[in-house]
Amino acid sequence: MQLFGELLRPIVAFAIATALFGLVEWLGRRRASPPWKRAGFWTDSGWWMLTPLATKAITRIGVGVAIFTIAWVSLGHPTDKEGLRAFVDRPTWASALPLPFEILLTLTVADFVGYWIHRAFHRGWLWRSHAVHHSSERLDWLAAVRVHPINDLLAGVTRVALLVLLGFRPTVLAGIVPFSTFYAVLLHANVPWSFGWVGRIIASPRFHRWHHAKHVSGDGANFAGFFVLWDRLFGTFYLPSSEPAETGIAMPMPKSIWGQLVYPFRKPDTKRVDRRSSEPIRSARPGIGIANPELPTRD
Ligand SMILES: [Zn+2]
Repeated sequence: MQLFGELLRPIVAFAIATALFGLVEWLGRRRASPPWKRAGFWTDSGWWMLTPLATKAITRIGVGVAIFTIAWVSLGHPTDKEGLRAFVDRPTWASALPLPFEILLTLTVADFVGYWIHRAFHRGWLWRSHAVHHSSERLDWLAAVRVHPINDLLAGVTRVALLVLLGFRPTVLAGIVPFSTFYAVLLHANVPWSFGWVGRIIASPRFHRWHHAKHVSGDGANFAGFFVLWDRLFGTFYLPSSEPAETGIAMPMPKSIWGQLVYPFRKPDTKRVDRRSSEPIRSARPGIGIANPELPTRD
């Protein structure tokens, strides 16, 4: 019965998201064709089931192990379930803050850490797991869930471990997860919205669409998940009034979910070009390369 409930949850979430983001995309695009008419619909539907059922479960275990290890090192001895709970709820400088301020600060620092983790995933071997997420050629809300488990696990564990080490409470971090998940799906919606002047502060679908642009220059653009400040500070902000002509990656990606799951572990074909760059993959700088003369170069 519990297994049935676990299976039912993503199906219900899928139905709600189809209605909600279908409305969002209809409002924003008017003539947008529904996701089930585009290439990769069945693959992304598979990811929609796999991500909450398997990927998030793996990441939760990884995060649990990381917190247990931090507690062990901090206390000087391994701890049981009760000791772990006491460690997680222990008073820290962050918990001494008024709750709204603590939540806002946790969100801000988590976003800052997430920005740098995301940049790291655009380099070297990490890019091969993140490339799966970037491989959707028709970017829409459904494509948001195409996230390789390695990408989710390493990014999730690194982010939580750093924040816990800094003194942020895992319970508050867990509390912002539903919001950040919803916002991540919204960022991928097939709408041209840039949110006007608000889009100069927080990420918008158009801002994120440029992150997924097939042709972009420098180290890549728009890595922030929420506050665009990080991209402005570190020279990766790019938000023209137009939208990118194409989204996706230049290198070939298997169409099936299984092919995409094993993709990071397969030997790269160095004869094939990497995304965004006309250089072969062996250049190992996947985010670097000029493909659009409209954009400024960092080199
Ligand atoms: Zn990315």
